[in-house]
Amino acid sequence: MGFLAGKRALIVGVASDRSIAWGIAEAMAREGAELAYTYQNDKLKERVTELAEQTNSRLVLPLDVAEDTEIDAVFSRLSAEWDRIDIIAHSVAFAPREQLSGSYVDTVTRDGFRLAQDISSYSFVALAKAARRMLRPGSSLITVSYLAAVRTIPNYNVMGPAKASLEANVRFMASDLGPSGIRVNCISAGPIKTLAAAGIGGMRIMLHYMEKTAPLRRGVTVQEVGNAAAFLCSDLATGITGEVLYVDGGYHVIGMSPE
Ligand code: NAD
Repeated sequence: MGFLAGKRALIVGVASDRSIAWGIAEAMAREGAELAYTYQNDKLKERVTELAEQTNSRLVLPLDVAEDTEIDAVFSRLSAEWDRIDIIAHSVAFAPREQLSGSYVDTVTRDGFRLAQDISSYSFVALAKAARRMLRPGSSLITVSYLAAVRTIPNYNVMGPAKASLEANVRFMASDLGPSGIRVNCISAGPIKTLAAAGIGGMRIMLHYMEKTAPLRRGVTVQEVGNAAAFLCSDLATGITGEVLYVDGGYHVIGMSPE
């Protein structure tokens, strides 16, 4: 029996089989969780439905996290199927592409900044807010961040402040929901080739640099991120909340490249 047997998990952020959310879904399904999925728009519906079927899930719901009505609709629909939610995995981010390369100061705009914060950070607490009545002691929320929350990374630009805000969100949510027995954690993943990552300038160079520099001398996979997420959301991790766990081959501990 897997270590998530009997748990019900909502997976938000699958766009393809390369998505980090898919790595999380596969790991959680393997460990026995029952899954529901959301998809951002009609273009992704079929692909997400097919992937969901691979984990025996038929609960696949539309959700643009910018829309409160869609967030509410997801939890009303889920409450008709499930009496509780044990896990919410949030693996969503967005910033306008033109702001993800070049000079930060020159390219950032008020609207771009606001949008990145809204979709990539606020949406995590928005999900918790709407799911509140279905969360129970033992429920666990997880999101995905990146090192640019705490260090500058070329081209990541406006997503840096968005990830910093997301990690602060994790701490505030953990503090607020902890007395109710609900845990909130974050994984800071190393760079992985996904659709979202393709929008960031110089991604190939970043991956190559990581392979040469990280203590493990390689990149990480969505499976490795998924396994860590499954652990953090399981009863093996009941003492952990408000944490940012790095799954990056140790890259974040390096102060200077060995070469
Ligand atoms: P991805 O493109 O597979 O996933 C991003 C998801 O965000 C997609 O499913 C997309 O539909 C969803 N999304 C964007 N705007 C949305 C909206 N308005 N409503 C609902 N969904 C929306 O890419 P990914 O790399 O798997 O990204 C998942 C998370 O991992 C993001 O938070 C990203 O910042 C983070 N992350 C990625 C890397 C990396 O190198 N790939 C590294 C660290 C952190």
